[in-house]
Amino acid sequence: VDDDEDDSYFGTYAHFGIHHEMLSDKARTEAYKSSFERNSEAIVGKVVLDVGCGTGILSLFASKAGAKQVFAVEKSEIAYSAMDIVRENGHEGKIKVMRGRLEDCKELPSVDIIVSEWMGYFLLFEGMLDTVLMARDQHLKKDGLMFPNRCSLHLVGVHDEDRHKQLVGFWSDVYGFKMSCLRRECTREAMVEVVPGKSVFTNSATLLSLDLNTCTPADAWFSTRFELTAERDGCLTALVGYFDVHFDLPSSVLLSTSPLSPATHWKQTVFLLEEPIPLSSGCKVNGVMECCRQAKNPRALKVTLTFEGKPPKDYYLD
Ligand code: SAH
Repeated sequence: VDDDEDDSYFGTYAHFGIHHEMLSDKARTEAYKSSFERNSEAIVGKVVLDVGCGTGILSLFASKAGAKQVFAVEKSEIAYSAMDIVRENGHEGKIKVMRGRLEDCKELPSVDIIVSEWMGYFLLFEGMLDTVLMARDQHLKKDGLMFPNRCSLHLVGVHDEDRHKQLVGFWSDVYGFKMSCLRRECTREAMVEVVPGKSVFTNSATLLSLDLNTCTPADAWFSTRFELTAERDGCLTALVGYFDVHFDLPSSVLLSTSPLSPATHWKQTVFLLEEPIPLSSGCKVNGVMECCRQAKNPRALKVTLTFEGKPPKDYYLD
């Protein structure tokens, strides 16, 4: 990632607005909070590294749960607010906020625990996982803990003809004119929106599973065959991606962004089909989904969907 692009990436985290959005996402923030609160035996007396601390909230959770010392690293200017917040809450004796890119922090000691909230839309958007894995390789003690330690990316089929008509069908008759080129165009952009649970009508297929203690950055880029089975009669209007994040501890915690779970600020990622596929109950669709970085913007994603016997189709998430 080149420096100018990264300035604009870190710029988006400088303003309180995005932190307000993340902190008010209760499913997200409480998953981290409970993973510390319910597993304090694993945290008491430990040294913790918070990768991308933002306002410092995860460091405060760790400190409150009994960590001996917390290093909170943040590149964006919100780091200065984190310093104030840590002081305001009387945790300055334990939490050290450091402003800078994690990659440039040379003075960090070995730590017992790494905590980070690095997940982006469709799990991989933003490409922050690379930073967390680098932090692990350089600073985590052998047998140290990752919070979270495991994640997976999934796909389901949805039937939502009204939404498909609004977004895709729209271009087939605009005040009596056809705009087919835009019909095609609008299905090239993956959309981030909350998908109603009731529109899901297939089982869920796993696209990717990562063990954060052992995976490498390259493991995140996948090309996976999937098979989805309709659980009732319907018409496949979109494929929808979501991820789960696990804290496998004596008292385990799961953060799920499934359309069947309470909505989070990640919502779901929607890949609209240009031509819906009717499926009766028990019928299967097979395909391959591939995900890689965009050449021009390495923090953004290109997802290629190929249904068996059909030409591949690219979707962009940027
Ligand atoms: N931990 C906070 C913020 C999570 S958002 C919370 O849970 O609310 C991710 C944060 O990581 C952003 O503030 C971003 O600026 C920071 N970040 C991303 N990559 C980083 C890097 N390489 N070095 C330092 N900070 C980074």
